[in-house]
Amino acid sequence: MPLTNSQYDAIMRSYEAKQRAVRHRLEHNTETVYRKIPDYEDLDRQVASISIEQGRKLLGGDEGALAELRQRLRALSEKKVSLLRAYGFPDDYLSPVYECGKCQDTGYIANQKCSCFRTEEINLIYEQSHIKNLLMTENFCSLSYDYYTGEDLEKFTKAVQICQNFVKSFDKDYRNLFFYGTVGTGKSFLSCCIAKELIDQGNLVIYFSASQLFDILSKSTFDRDSIEAASGISDDICDCDLLIIDDLGTELTNSFVSSQLFSCLNNRHLRKKATIITTNLSLGELRDRYSDRIFSRITSNYDICKLTGKDIRMQKKTAASNK
Ligand SMILES: [Zn+2]
Repeated sequence: MPLTNSQYDAIMRSYEAKQRAVRHRLEHNTETVYRKIPDYEDLDRQVASISIEQGRKLLGGDEGALAELRQRLRALSEKKVSLLRAYGFPDDYLSPVYECGKCQDTGYIANQKCSCFRTEEINLIYEQSHIKNLLMTENFCSLSYDYYTGEDLEKFTKAVQICQNFVKSFDKDYRNLFFYGTVGTGKSFLSCCIAKELIDQGNLVIYFSASQLFDILSKSTFDRDSIEAASGISDDICDCDLLIIDDLGTELTNSFVSSQLFSCLNNRHLRKKATIITTNLSLGELRDRYSDRIFSRITSNYDICKLTGKDIRMQKKTAASNK
């Protein structure tokens, strides 16, 4: 992976900042609890001294005494929890809350980069950071049915259900999604919703517009200077947990693009890695523009969702200008 030293350092610095924030929050919350619950600090002191004693007994191999100490520690921690609750604090008020629970915001799990590190890496290398911002606003929490009526609403509701199931069964089932329909009917929005959920669950998700994707793929084929870099990129495109190709059909299509698209979809299919495609093309246009084998790959291996309705961006614009 072609990450420069300074990019690597920047990522590691962001992890240090996250860990610092966790520590500060804990210190601040501990102070608050000590101030509001006078007995709590004493319980903490007892826990500390029992733990030291436990260490000594452990060295001495005194099994009976160890069991007793464990019992006392359990009783103390139950007391602490019930005190916290009695004063109206949430149970995890004094536990560290990490952005990534898997690596506890260190970026690594047993010398292997955590998926959150890989996501940062991909964001930096492919300048995908705008996706991060997009996911802040486009997610299941901001989902609205207000822009649809009648049959359009039915289709959208069904598509939302398919997306939620896709997320729910992502670890167990290998599935792909194909969203098509006219401009501004929520196709990219739904794929962002899925991306956000799966990134939060620790999956490696790559999100490209079709033109970005083919740009990268063509560079990796023709640009001899960046063969090393390119091989890393195509590995990621084949290997990431979820690849989203947004707006298929807006790129300049030619036979090169068509064959790159097929090998990309085919490689992912062989590895059972999920792909989501959105497009404004109709199924007929899809078949005419790309090869038959792409068309049959998509129709046989993808859940096909059609979205219809008035352009949401236009509806929002009209609503804003009427205010
Ligand atoms: Zn992590």
